[in-house]
Amino acid sequence: MKWMITLLPLIARTLLFAGTGYHPAVPDTRNTIPVSDTGKNEITLASYRTADSVSGWQTYSLKEISFITKANKITQFSLGSSQQGRKIGAFYFPGTSKQRALVIAGVHGSELSSVEVAWQLIRQLMQDDPPYYSVIIIPSLFPDNSIKAMNDPALIGGVANIGRYTFPFSVDPNRQMPSPGEAYDENNGTDHLGRFIEKENQLLLQLIQSFRPQRIVNLHAIRNKDYGGVYADPRTDQNGIALGFSSDSSLAIRIAACIHQHGGNVEGNNLDREPTALYYKDPIPAPAGFLQKRNMTGSALNANRGSGVSLGTWGATAVGNKKDPSKNRDAMRIITIEYPGYKRPGDYTAVSQQLFQQRQVELFASAIRTIFLGPYFTENENNELAKK
Ligand SMILES: [Zn+2]
Repeated sequence: MKWMITLLPLIARTLLFAGTGYHPAVPDTRNTIPVSDTGKNEITLASYRTADSVSGWQTYSLKEISFITKANKITQFSLGSSQQGRKIGAFYFPGTSKQRALVIAGVHGSELSSVEVAWQLIRQLMQDDPPYYSVIIIPSLFPDNSIKAMNDPALIGGVANIGRYTFPFSVDPNRQMPSPGEAYDENNGTDHLGRFIEKENQLLLQLIQSFRPQRIVNLHAIRNKDYGGVYADPRTDQNGIALGFSSDSSLAIRIAACIHQHGGNVEGNNLDREPTALYYKDPIPAPAGFLQKRNMTGSALNANRGSGVSLGTWGATAVGNKKDPSKNRDAMRIITIEYPGYKRPGDYTAVSQQLFQQRQVELFASAIRTIFLGPYFTENENNELAKK
């Protein structure tokens, strides 16, 4: 019942702002939570906890990342500016270990529910004990595209997919990564197929190469709710030779099981029949020591705009360059979460659906917080997976 009471102001607020283009991604029901003012494209961090656990460096940017992690306080910073000049907000939360994780949402701006899950995670981390992993969260990587989707509320989740692409003939934002096994080169800025990498993705790549997370959650959403779930990419060495999928798969299944046990929808993981962490479009994981096939095609679009290397493929492949080993890294665990449905709770019309979806959002966020950011299947401090 207490849960109902705290939700009522959220619903009221959602209804109040419906149709105005203003929709707070985080309900401003308390003074102690961050507010994403997506209409004005500003993120403000309200006061919470004790002042000495929070950094005042809210003007910091990507260049100061080493100061932020050294200070090891909860910090809000900006990754940089989007193509239309909006700030891309990021949050750092110190963990209890030296392990590092990254959570990103909104690579596809149309998938607004995924952005909502990231904000819910931020809210939970501000109110709960620190996680095991230190984590950076980017709730909306392509804010320009998400705002496009928000500005057409009747079409959210529709086949027009408003907000997925930055401009009419742009490449899929999730298909703009460098060649597997190669580092991102700031001076070049092109992807595996030699195409220009959009600015937001370049900032993400810079962040990954300076923060060096061992694991990443990439939050997406999927229209067909039967395919929602938690998926892992098989890790390989820099030559594409499989390292073994079992621990990545187990981590994904464990996150999915946490959602499922509390009543959440992760149908795509097939937990009741034959649990799987493999996305239905991805090739089967190769046994360790064998060449891993990768899905390089994505959505069928004109001029191969849907083709290219995804974050899953690039991140799960080790980088090994003998000439410039400074950017070399091990394969990262890449967990791709597909939230069922693009709409945010407030985008549903019936109050019962809003409550159901709000609960879903909370379940996805808390599974990330407790399992993905918890001490499960941990890597060692040299950024390598512990050998079994
Ligand atoms: Zn997506």
